[in-house]
Amino acid sequence: ATPVAIMVGTGVGAKGGILIKSGDALQSARDIDTVVLDKTGTITKGKPRVTDVFGYERGLNVDEIISIAAAIEKPSEHPLAEAIVEEAQIKGVSIPDVEDFQAVFGKGVMGTCGGKKCLAGNEVFMEENGIALLPGARDAMDEMAGEGKTCLLFARDGKLSAVIGVADTIKESSVKAIRQLHDMKIEVVMLTGDNKRTAEAVQKKLGINQVIAQVLPEDKEKEIRRLQKEGKKVAMIGDGINDAPALAAADVGIAIGAGTDVAIDSADIILMKSKLTDAITAIRLSRAVIKNIK
Ligand code: ADP
Ligand code: MG
Repeated sequence: ATPVAIMVGTGVGAKGGILIKSGDALQSARDIDTVVLDKTGTITKGKPRVTDVFGYERGLNVDEIISIAAAIEKPSEHPLAEAIVEEAQIKGVSIPDVEDFQAVFGKGVMGTCGGKKCLAGNEVFMEENGIALLPGARDAMDEMAGEGKTCLLFARDGKLSAVIGVADTIKESSVKAIRQLHDMKIEVVMLTGDNKRTAEAVQKKLGINQVIAQVLPEDKEKEIRRLQKEGKKVAMIGDGINDAPALAAADVGIAIGAGTDVAIDSADIILMKSKLTDAITAIRLSRAVIKNIK
């Protein structure tokens, strides 16, 4: 494209809250045939709330579960952690101090609370720490996952204490955006660290072509490269620290404006209004500008 066409294109984008960092990004956006979407914070609002609490430790009630879970989640910046801390605040329960806090990227957190070792995280995290799932817990998890909820497991003293259900809301603009992508014959892939069943429930609701779930943060980038090896021209849209390498690897990296600084720095295009429909506007803009100069 001519420098003028690119200037006009980026100018039009900027007016609509779509920041295109370079002329190259605008040109690459034209050829995109696959859009990879992160789930939490990208398709969903990223503001999950606690919906269910199932307790399995005798003598430990729901308020106490939330109180201790909030204590070990408090130092974490993960949206799930924020949901637990917010629930403690809503319930008005105290959040005790925690020692030896440790976060395991893409899996969960641990710490000592009231002299007891506590863990909060996903199933893999529990397995790795030798925590057995109870049959009742399995049923609760299956049911919640079928509703698209994320299950957070909480363990204390080496035993499972609770299963906490957390639900996030799908952005209205995401529904619209995915429909438009289908109309444009662009394949839509969802990439998430969340559980497979939870991801599939969201996939069904939105009619997403393909879902890649239970992906560790370091493997998101690999999935992008795998699609590129299949000959796909890939745009990745994400918001988290865990999305940054994938955003950099994609042909076009698109960050959600409300996302983390690391994601924004790694991207070629930033959606200031945090709406997925603006990614489609960017692709259309690119196609229009590039066509004009041919
Ligand atoms: P996503 O791709 O959905 O943004 P992440 O890669 O950040 O997810 O995390 C993957 C999974 O690891 C989460 O779905 C959750 O099960 C677990 N997890 C990560 N951090 C935490 C935390 N602080 N507390 C509980 N679970 C966590
Ligand atoms: Mg995210």
